[in-house]
Amino acid sequence: MGYTTVYPGNKNFDKKALEEIEAVIPHGVSVKESDRVIYSKDYWPIALRWHLDGKLPALPDCIVWPENEEQVAGIIKIANEKHVPVVPYGEGSGVLGGAVPVKGGIVVDMRKMDKVIAIDDESLMVTVQAGINGMNLERYLNHNGYTMGHIPQSLYCSSLGGWLACRAAGQFSTKYGKIEDIVIAMKAVLADGSIISSKAVPRTSTGPRVERLLLGSEGTLGIITEATLKIWPYPEERAMLSFTFDDISHALEAVRKIMRKNVYPAVVRIYDENETLRHFQVKNKCMLILLMEGAKELVELEKSISLNICKEEGGEERGDGPVKHWLETRFNVKESSEFVPKGFVFDTVEVSTSWKNALALYRAVIKAMRGVDGVVVASGHASHFYPQGVCFYFTFGGLPLKHSTPFKFYESVWDSIMDACLRQGGSISHHHGIGLMRAKWLNKEMGARFEMLEKIKRAIDPGKIMNPGKMGIGMEEGENEG
Ligand SMILES: Cc1cc2nc3c(=O)[nH]c(=O)nc-3n(C[C@H](O)[C@H](O)[C@H](O)COP(=O)(O)OP(=O)(O)OC[C@H]3O[C@@H](n4cnc5c(N)ncnc54)[C@H](O)[C@@H]3O)c2cc1C
Repeated sequence: MGYTTVYPGNKNFDKKALEEIEAVIPHGVSVKESDRVIYSKDYWPIALRWHLDGKLPALPDCIVWPENEEQVAGIIKIANEKHVPVVPYGEGSGVLGGAVPVKGGIVVDMRKMDKVIAIDDESLMVTVQAGINGMNLERYLNHNGYTMGHIPQSLYCSSLGGWLACRAAGQFSTKYGKIEDIVIAMKAVLADGSIISSKAVPRTSTGPRVERLLLGSEGTLGIITEATLKIWPYPEERAMLSFTFDDISHALEAVRKIMRKNVYPAVVRIYDENETLRHFQVKNKCMLILLMEGAKELVELEKSISLNICKEEGGEERGDGPVKHWLETRFNVKESSEFVPKGFVFDTVEVSTSWKNALALYRAVIKAMRGVDGVVVASGHASHFYPQGVCFYFTFGGLPLKHSTPFKFYESVWDSIMDACLRQGGSISHHHGIGLMRAKWLNKEMGARFEMLEKIKRAIDPGKIMNPGKMGIGMEEGENEG
């Protein structure tokens, strides 16, 4: 194979390892060049850029498609014996390099583990295998009269396991919560090949919920194989409202007051002036869209409370048109694939903060992005809300100046955002996770908890086989985690 790879790969994978793997999964192993190339990257813009430059980020040694926990456990046992990395793979829609096989090894693609095991209507729960595609799961639930309320923009191209491993958030999260609020129980194969599972009960007081360590672990501790999730009867009513405000501070204040009333619209989005112009063609205003859903009487009540608060805060009513427009375009992400081949460097970065710090953080991050030479687009919206705070989603784009490169430029903008966020007391990620891109900041974010995470990694994965190089944990001396 004549490819140049950015990361070196591993030297322990051999014919014997392959034979043993094929014995565990007789009809689900590939070492074909085309498959290895496909699984060399995820949706991380840097990995896409390397591809365009004729380089591969990294090459796995083989790809496996297990169909049950026993096969997953069998693969992990072989990997431990042979000191070969294991990289769990959902659908590769992660945007931070989490699924890039930086040390080669075995990519475990979970897509064949896609069965809905049971719906418990009485307890409002569904049990599903973790490799299921998001859209397939939501369609199945809708068909049976339910929703799980988790609708990320990547619904069509991401999996349940990927959501759990990254602590994903859907567009309706203000009402239904993030995936960590939706999951009730999990089954997983740990790094030593042992299988754990938790009970599908709403709450326990039986010591720490250790299985929840898998949430947000990005494949570094084990492979999630099954989960039980909350579901809801499909909403009987939907209401849509939109308002424009003269300044983002008034829109934020309106939503803060709505949340304070214990009112949870399903969709709440505030766009700053740049994004309001870009998405709704309205100049010098900030758009707020609200979508409430559920039982008719409750929706009516939430609507009237929200309407009154928005008017009190100076909001100008814009009807349901902007919400309908958002609903029609919400899965459209063509910019990211259109701009990159033209040399335009573009990305989005999500962070979270308390209400107290919200406005200062938003302004500090916008200023920081604009301070980087070559940035032509620096904008933001807020899209996930809590009574305690908010998630901001920033977008930047630009062209590196002559003395720079796309990579240096990209990193400078990211540095500026992460530094500004940490300075303002925010958390460096709300739902995309850490992967490779954010690894160098995780230590600063976590403080002493980072060493605790290292200890957990050492205890659960002493052979360091699970998704090495990710989140900056379990690194060898002198290894660069960035
Ligand atoms: C267009 C677009 C829109 C997006 N919109 C959203 C959004 O609205 N909300 C949001 O939260 N994210 C969003 N994302 C990011 C991405 O979709 C999420 O991070 C998603 O959770 C990744 O799922 P995946 O199945 O593709 O995982 P992958 O990319 O395959 O993997 C992500 C990480 O999880 C690990 N992993 C995967 N499966 C398992 C498993 N079964 N067990 C253990 N570890 C596992 C991988 O090793 C890797 O570290 C978006 C991405 C794109 C490209």
